[in-house]
Amino acid sequence: MVVERRKPMEIGEGVKRVLAHPLELQAEELNIEDVLDRVLAEPIIADHDVPPFNRSPYDGFALRAEDTVKASTETPVHLEVIEEIGAGQVAKSHLRQGQAIRIMTGAAIPEGADAVSMFEVVKEYEKDSKPMIEVGRKFRPGQNIAQQGEDTGKGTVLIEKGTRIKPGVTAILATFGYKTIKVYRKPKIGIYATGTELLDIDEPLQPGKIRNSNAYMISAQIRKMGGEPLYLGKLADDFEACFEAVSAVLNDVDALVTTGGVSVGDYDYLPAIYEKLGANTLFNKIAMRPGSVTTVAEHQGKLLFGLSGNPSACFVGGELFLRPFIKQAVESTPFLAKIKAVLAKDFPKPNPFTRLVRGKIEYTTEGVRVAPTGLDKSSSVTSIAEADTFIVLPGGTRGFKTGDEVEVLLLDNESDLNPWEK
Ligand code: AMP
Ligand code: MG
Repeated sequence: MVVERRKPMEIGEGVKRVLAHPLELQAEELNIEDVLDRVLAEPIIADHDVPPFNRSPYDGFALRAEDTVKASTETPVHLEVIEEIGAGQVAKSHLRQGQAIRIMTGAAIPEGADAVSMFEVVKEYEKDSKPMIEVGRKFRPGQNIAQQGEDTGKGTVLIEKGTRIKPGVTAILATFGYKTIKVYRKPKIGIYATGTELLDIDEPLQPGKIRNSNAYMISAQIRKMGGEPLYLGKLADDFEACFEAVSAVLNDVDALVTTGGVSVGDYDYLPAIYEKLGANTLFNKIAMRPGSVTTVAEHQGKLLFGLSGNPSACFVGGELFLRPFIKQAVESTPFLAKIKAVLAKDFPKPNPFTRLVRGKIEYTTEGVRVAPTGLDKSSSVTSIAEADTFIVLPGGTRGFKTGDEVEVLLLDNESDLNPWEK
């Protein structure tokens, strides 16, 4: 058998090719209770002014600034308190010369009033059993009044479409009466795990066999990226069976992920399956470790992600290529955020390919440090469990030393900056 030679592609170029196949997603309308973590498919617009009316920011007395023009500590003015209103109430009377209304925070400013005095600056007393206040200072018209629309004017776009709905966004939705909201449908991503060696979770171990961890890992990754994973089962390494299974499901998903079978081994059938489908291969080798065999092909507008069977390689392939694909369809921040950190451990072995080492970040008062987690092998399952970053070590002829500044991709932080563009 002639082993096919594959030309490695830079990670950034691979990501670019994936992004050139955007997913068009429909919107669906959901109740406000069901939209947490979903992505807005419509901008949120203020349907009224905030505040919706002039209101009092304090507990105090609404009055006419005009009545206080001559007021001072020596020559206070005296106003009759004709009514009392709390938040949610509207005054019955129109304020006239010499009058004030006792008002609570949040209540609408009564007609005729144009300023509010806090309790602390007036003296309350009674005259002929009528409540009165003595005001010993001047007020400007508009003083201590929260003006209608000062926070937000009607018609303002408050939140752009493409924003993920967090609890704070929910408050805005409720403020403006959005009982139902248009959000993007989640991209439905089918998953097959290939490999005759694979056992289900609940099967006892047998000689030569291992449990299928990739399907569950990649499902969890997809869910976290905002997609809807659809686990379709595991497939033995049988060309016809795999071909049938892959072709049968393409119409039901937005994209398909397979794990395993993309190498050049005797039972790696994915490349031949892509060929028989007539799919167009975007790449079949990436200049990275782990996951250099990561393959992406396009067939009738659908992307087929052929991830490595090695757990670490599968994880890396998913984060680097599947993530921006799923996220760009709906969200304005499709990439892992990139920051700089200082290496806390030597990495002496040079590698011609960019290495994505699973690492754990530590924020110290002296700066950000990062150290690899567990075994740096593409087959390692444990190194992924502890990792919160990928340490990006550029390919070349030299190794890396403790204290070197390196770039890291944060697995739990997103950004609109493509980390592979300079
Ligand atoms: P492959 O990419 O099919 O050559 O598989 C590479 C390595 O990953 C082999 O050691 C497989 O046994 C292992 N592997 C493949 N699929 C899975 C899976 N779903 N879960 C865990 N390990 C796997
Ligand atoms: Mg295999």
